Amino acid sequence: MVILGRQGSGKGTQSLRLAAQYGCVHLSTGDVLRAAVEEGTELGRQAAGIMNAGGLVGDDVMIPLVAERVAKPDIMSGGVLLDGFPRTADQANGLEAMLADLGQELTIAINLDVPVEEVTERMMARGREDDTEEAIARRLSLYEEQTAPLLDWFAERGLLATVDGLGEEDQVFSRLTEAIDGRMA
Ligand code: AMP
Repeated sequence: MVILGRQGSGKGTQSLRLAAQYGCVHLSTGDVLRAAVEEGTELGRQAAGIMNAGGLVGDDVMIPLVAERVAKPDIMSGGVLLDGFPRTADQANGLEAMLADLGQELTIAINLDVPVEEVTERMMARGREDDTEEAIARRLSLYEEQTAPLLDWFAERGLLATVDGLGEEDQVFSRLTEAIDGRMA
């Protein structure tokens, strides 16, 4: 499964609950990168500046990173919820190629839909280190430019389900499971 949505849409929170519900691995590329920054690895050193500026880490780094992780036995047997990947057309094509290599298929791509005004307010309120006003604006504009077009890419493949992300957390979670269960049935 893939979950797409603007930063601040509640994707992270809902993804944790969904992974628990469906017994799959929650793979957040943002979490992987933040851990790498924390540990001071080579990947972390490369990513830190880009992340603080609200930019995107290169596809040449992100695609192999995800390809390596999804080939591991836990994901091969239990599945994965991808959160924060793909974010560009190249990453989407990379995902298609890596799944084909592994003989795996996507079940659903969820668009967790929350309007720009609402996510901006939420991000200002959560006060993460990379949540400066400039970085938020940059991330949202990159989302519209690079990631929003992927909604069509998934729709063309019959995989897209748009879920309203406004409202109570439990209510949104119910909408998500309904969309997924409908797809799995
Ligand atoms: P997130 O937690 O998904 O909002 O990601 C935090 C930051 O990590 C983003 O603003 C990007 O700088 C970087 N990042 C996460 N996932 C990706 C990706 N798939 N491609 C490029 N950069 C990413």
